[in-house]
Amino acid sequence: MYTKEIGRSLFLIELETGGLKNLICSYVICGRKPLLVESGPTNSIPNLILGLKQLDIKLEDVEYVAVTHVHLDHGGGAGTLLKFLPNAKVLVHPRGMPHLVDPDRLWPSSQSVLGFVSEIFGKPEPVPKDRIIPVTEGSIDLGDGEKLSFTETLGHASHNLSFQETFNGGVFPGDAAGTYFPEFDVVVPTTPPPFRLDAALASLDKLIQLNPTVLYYSHFGKANNAVQRLKDYKAQLQLWAEIAEEGVEKNLSLREIRDRIAAKDRALARILGFVEHHRIYSKTVLENCVGGFIDYAKRQRANKGS
Ligand SMILES: [Zn+2]
Repeated sequence: MYTKEIGRSLFLIELETGGLKNLICSYVICGRKPLLVESGPTNSIPNLILGLKQLDIKLEDVEYVAVTHVHLDHGGGAGTLLKFLPNAKVLVHPRGMPHLVDPDRLWPSSQSVLGFVSEIFGKPEPVPKDRIIPVTEGSIDLGDGEKLSFTETLGHASHNLSFQETFNGGVFPGDAAGTYFPEFDVVVPTTPPPFRLDAALASLDKLIQLNPTVLYYSHFGKANNAVQRLKDYKAQLQLWAEIAEEGVEKNLSLREIRDRIAAKDRALARILGFVEHHRIYSKTVLENCVGGFIDYAKRQRANKGS
């Protein structure tokens, strides 16, 4: 666990979930009303609390915890975290809210999608309903004229929000802009089933419109050239979708489709060796994210009645 100043009044906390570095982080905006972006998973809440202490932030001063979506690695730890933050409220999309209040349905579905990875993240604890503020479009005041605005960026999930802060003009896309590998300066899709390509592309157009200065990826860290990155990510999603569609038509296996993608996408080719041996990314990136495109292609075909 470490903390790092990455902008004006802005810090990254490396959560080191499951002892793994460069996987999941939370962000702290230290304005007059301190706000966290992403609780991260249940199992790394102790690291997050340690990070806040290192930054000299009083736990009772934290006003908001904004979660981009309720998947275990982003909002899964919110219930546990709130036990340490007596005055904080959680900002979440209204469609994510029921899962925070009653995580009993989310947990088994996460276990079936993520397998052993869900155990590394940990089971979510419920968030009291009266400590949740459902939001879709708009902003909240962080004091001294600063604010955090939010916008719906669906596709990865049916309830993914992105946030933009006024201190530096950067955007927190959650999983709407892919997974960033800082070691390689490469982005690859974050697209587990039920991924929706049409919604994801529309969300990227919304993010480009915000003209962010930088991106703060939950996986992992700050990256510059934000608008170009978002445009590149759009093209990458379209490329993966084309290959998956063709693969489904030809009845190819997930592995064959993945190899075809790696042959055409330099980003995936560059990290393939690293990801294949990664405890979590081997499952999430190589199985679930390629799987999301295959699932989407199959649903499109079923809708067309072919
Ligand atoms: Zn994620």
